[in-house]
Amino acid sequence: MNKFCSFHEAINHEDLDQRDEIAFIRKKFVPLKYANINIMTNAFLFGTSCHDSLRGYYNDEDNQLYIFRMEDHYKRLKKNSKILNMDSFFSIQQMCDITLELLEKNNFKSDCYIRSIAYKSGLHFGLNLLDINDLAIFAVLQKRFHETLKPISVCISTWRRVQDNAIPARGKINGAYVNSSLAVSEAIFNGYNDAIFLNENGNVSEGTGMNLFMVKNNVIVTPPNYDNILEGITRETLIEIIPEDLKMKLEQRSINRSELYTADEIFFCGTGAEIVPVKSIDKRIIADGKNYPISKMIQEYYFNLVRGKNQKRKNWLTPVNKKERIYE
Ligand code: PMP
Repeated sequence: MNKFCSFHEAINHEDLDQRDEIAFIRKKFVPLKYANINIMTNAFLFGTSCHDSLRGYYNDEDNQLYIFRMEDHYKRLKKNSKILNMDSFFSIQQMCDITLELLEKNNFKSDCYIRSIAYKSGLHFGLNLLDINDLAIFAVLQKRFHETLKPISVCISTWRRVQDNAIPARGKINGAYVNSSLAVSEAIFNGYNDAIFLNENGNVSEGTGMNLFMVKNNVIVTPPNYDNILEGITRETLIEIIPEDLKMKLEQRSINRSELYTADEIFFCGTGAEIVPVKSIDKRIIADGKNYPISKMIQEYYFNLVRGKNQKRKNWLTPVNKKERIYE
């Protein structure tokens, strides 16, 4: 049985035994319950792995599951794997093919979340990046990250975003996600839904697993790559569609903390989080705390686009159903 998974609840091991999903590991498709790594695996011991997350959106009219920007996600994973010295790694085409085969095997008829992990698979506890690597992929049915799409309340984290010369944030390196886990836990302990990171210079960086956009005087602003952000695919998507499709002005520039408190609107974006407006930051209500016209418009545009309802942007989608795949 394929059940929906939540970002916020763990699956216990007995439940895993009942699940039917197929995963990919050590060059084979296996039931998810058997897709395990040994405790001596270097990636488990030291976080020496990087990942990418993708989403599949089911379109009922087309009877089709579409993967959003699959090739772009794997281009990023391939580049990031170089940071961890994974030269003998899968090609972009191979990763796309494996993902499509995996989804065909899983035969999902609803939205899903795909996690691809490039990891140091050698059984060794040395602090070096030996070139022994593997690719693991799993996919599960998935609904929203923040359960509803309602605006969320966030704080500025007391934790700073990891610096490029410590662990590069752009690398999507699994070990670096402890930084995000600390910030989310702190936020939840203190009664918020999530957190915003500043970098060591005090500039706004991003959310814990999403990029940030601010609306001020009808200009949409997002922090630049050099403010320790992950170069998000959703962010890139918005940077393209906001000026081109929605005819609004967009700037990439550093943002001060106090600019957030005085913003007209703020929203997060990411594959997992999708588009989520922010209701308050450190208890300061953003705008009137109720209406987010620009965030809402972008949210609606994005949801139509990822589900294959926007002809202009359909080239960003890969249908899982073989017959419709253009490159075959
Ligand atoms: N920042 C961080 C730290 C993230 O983990 C993510 C999620 N991958 C994002 C931003 C958003 O990136 P994307 O749009 O590529 O999912």
